[in-house]
Amino acid sequence: MMREVGETTRTVCPYCGVGCGVLVTREEDGAVSVKGDPEHPANLGRLCSKGSALGDTIGVEGRGLYPQIAGEQVSWDAALGKVADAFGRAIAEHGPDSVAFYVSGQLLTEDYYIANKLMKGFIGSANIDTNSRLCMSSSVAGHIRAFGADTVPGTYEDLEKADLVILTGSNMAWCHPVLYQRIAAAKEKRKSMRVVVVDPRRTATCDIADMHLAVRPDGDVALFNGLLAHLVESGALDAEYVRNHTKGFPESIAEARKLTRAQIAERTGLSMLQLEAFYALFTRTEKVVTCYSQGVNQSAMGTDKVNAIINCHLATGRIGKVGTGPFSLTGQPNAMGGREVGGLANMLAAHLSIDNTEHVEKLGRFWNTQKVAAKPGLKAVDLFNAVADGRIKALWVMSTNPAMSMPDANKVSDGLKNCPFVVVSDMFANTETALQADVFLPAIGWGEKNGTVTNSERRISRQRAFLPVPGEARPDWWQLTEVGRRLGFASAFDFAGPAEVFAEHAALSGFENEDERDFDISAHAEINQASYDDLSPFQWPAPGDAESTRQVVSATADGQQRFFADGGFYTADRKARFVAVTTQEKAPTDDAGFFVLNTGRVRDHWHTMTRTGRSAKLSSHLAEPFVEIHPADAADHNIESADLVRVSGQNGSVVLRALLTDRQLRGSLFVPMHWSGEFSGNARVDTLPTALADPHSGQPALKQSLASISVYKPAKFMFLASRLRPKFEGVTYWATAKTKAGWRSEMALDNLPIDWEVWCRDQLGLDDDCEELGYGDQTSGIRRQAFFLNGQLEAALYVANTPVAVSRNWIVSQFDTDIASPRQRTGILAGRPGADQKDPGATVCACFEVGINQITDAVRSGCHSVAAVGAANNAGTNCGSCRAEIRRIIDDCLIVAAE
Ligand code: SF4
Repeated sequence: MMREVGETTRTVCPYCGVGCGVLVTREEDGAVSVKGDPEHPANLGRLCSKGSALGDTIGVEGRGLYPQIAGEQVSWDAALGKVADAFGRAIAEHGPDSVAFYVSGQLLTEDYYIANKLMKGFIGSANIDTNSRLCMSSSVAGHIRAFGADTVPGTYEDLEKADLVILTGSNMAWCHPVLYQRIAAAKEKRKSMRVVVVDPRRTATCDIADMHLAVRPDGDVALFNGLLAHLVESGALDAEYVRNHTKGFPESIAEARKLTRAQIAERTGLSMLQLEAFYALFTRTEKVVTCYSQGVNQSAMGTDKVNAIINCHLATGRIGKVGTGPFSLTGQPNAMGGREVGGLANMLAAHLSIDNTEHVEKLGRFWNTQKVAAKPGLKAVDLFNAVADGRIKALWVMSTNPAMSMPDANKVSDGLKNCPFVVVSDMFANTETALQADVFLPAIGWGEKNGTVTNSERRISRQRAFLPVPGEARPDWWQLTEVGRRLGFASAFDFAGPAEVFAEHAALSGFENEDERDFDISAHAEINQASYDDLSPFQWPAPGDAESTRQVVSATADGQQRFFADGGFYTADRKARFVAVTTQEKAPTDDAGFFVLNTGRVRDHWHTMTRTGRSAKLSSHLAEPFVEIHPADAADHNIESADLVRVSGQNGSVVLRALLTDRQLRGSLFVPMHWSGEFSGNARVDTLPTALADPHSGQPALKQSLASISVYKPAKFMFLASRLRPKFEGVTYWATAKTKAGWRSEMALDNLPIDWEVWCRDQLGLDDDCEELGYGDQTSGIRRQAFFLNGQLEAALYVANTPVAVSRNWIVSQFDTDIASPRQRTGILAGRPGADQKDPGATVCACFEVGINQITDAVRSGCHSVAAVGAANNAGTNCGSCRAEIRRIIDDCLIVAAE
């Protein structure tokens, strides 16, 4: 579908679990403009840097546009026939558990529903798992243990209405920026509101924190067990709620009381004073929301952490009321939708339980099949172990890149090579996983897709198409139905479009429900195409019979629906369960000689950068993969700022730029997980962690593996700005990022070329007509090389024995300038602007491309607040994602000035 020029489409952002509404308009020049949807309840018009730059990421560059078998373009019929044949043969010869799907929180609910129906209902195996296993499956397991169902009780408004918001294991300022902005705005209005950040790192989120608790890795269970004991001792227990609506309290409090306060201080790494202050604040504040994200979930004890948090909310009855509750923040745009359709290997569709025979039979009745899987399938780590050891004979990977993102990623990659049949459906044919596919199926992407997603507050929104489908790409749901038909299940997969899939999904949610299950959207079971097209965002539950969820949902005066204020949990006796969680004996940091390696996200990139890596704006903030190290740890290892560092785990090593910061705890490292082989030579950090997983959820401990570090001193450090992308042949270290005019690349070499000019021409494939200007100094080891064509800069290379110090953003900006005079040319070789030009410095505000030097100039001229800096140069005035960084720059400047 292609919208007319000027026509606006109401859709949703495809990145994080906040689920912001966006308005997309096609412009005269073919570009699209993207704005926050003021009517969408998740964001009320706001967008973060990633959402604001969506228009930059919709080109077809790098897209796989045609079905392929063994790398050769084929017809859809041939590709689908090959898939059905391979799966059919494996099932016939080795049984249904010999095949598997590995799917993604990037899929729309309709795609997810069909994948799950095909595998669990008709192939007859539960071997379908999802990359959401890596994201929030510990929250799912914790919810089910406590509530009897995977329920997020509250709403986003609770975060604004709480008097205390605790953000634990969540760098919300970068990972859920619009929610962060909502809390920051609420706090600005209501000065009495308090925010506590529980995180080993002092992240950008701490900008709004009244208290930062730099808890030791995996110290959370001790922290919240200590809180539970304190709540009881200080009389904050809601005895009536505990008596009427819960079970298991005595066992939990007995476990929580096992540690003395001094032992909690030792396990958490916090002072007695910090613990006292945090516990007192929680105790005296009635309206408390505790948000948790990957720092809690991605742990070998993630489920216990979730239950330690929930225990405190159950004990105080602070759940389901306005401004209260535990709140799981989902990472992906449709992780929640995946949970609704049973996308995890241990769940069935519509929150039916795979461990409940009646539920299995119920689903069989609804789908009219005898084959519903009656036992859990393989969770992600086990699934790829089964791929590696040959138990899986045919694997279908949809919209995800496990050869990059799974722990021990090289082993996953090797396993894929050995698997007899791998089919990958994706937008991109060049991911680490897609390159190993026997069959590649081109999938459509954001802007081309129609369907629904569910955000972290149970809100279902329509994603609407506004772009034509490129090449022969097709929706995932269609690909799956076509394979289902070819496997002999035509009548069960006879859908004309996503509206019909959604209607069946909605009908199933209400099927023989009778208040038994939280997920019920049967009000939409009869939806037709026109209503689906017009569907406004809504929260579940939305039962067909409005009375049916009366027990569990409280519709408060603010018009929001919340679960569990009056109990009504989804256990057999309708009571919640306290879970007695045990504090671990030792923190990972106790292993002498090793660092705890924490992997995570940066502000402007998403997952493996297949989309955000195409935006010059988003690539300008942090253009190179890095490792954050505490300065004292760096000194112990002879590492200086901007050195290259080898970070080694049990399964390999990566090489990264050293970022020395006291925001990092001693003994810990932080490395972003985004940089794939497309943008870096050796920075795939998920190759390092072992596949250690939480025993309840199966979620890998991606944030607490052990690693060692050593400085890597290459013969030469290099920075190259170029219109053409370098080949990086023979380059020991490299990382590259898109710019408006081309590429900026950091490199290092051990084997030096005899002739730098020839080397450059070869790496870049430069036109023979390019004029060269060079300069070298044998003594200092400095080399500068620039190439010009028709009065414009084509490439500039800077070589040094130490990390290259030049004005990178200024050099990159010179590609838009006519370089005519000899003075301008030699200026390029100098690598920094002359006195008559300004160097913006490293980008801080991606939206308006404002650099650090422009911000410090504004501060020096008297702008001492974020608002004043914004008024001077626009920094921080669009999406606001950089405001925390601007505030830090202001503080640093003012401290320096006062000294
Ligand atoms: Fe997209 Fe940012 Fe909103 Fe997340 S917070 S949904 S990334 S605009």
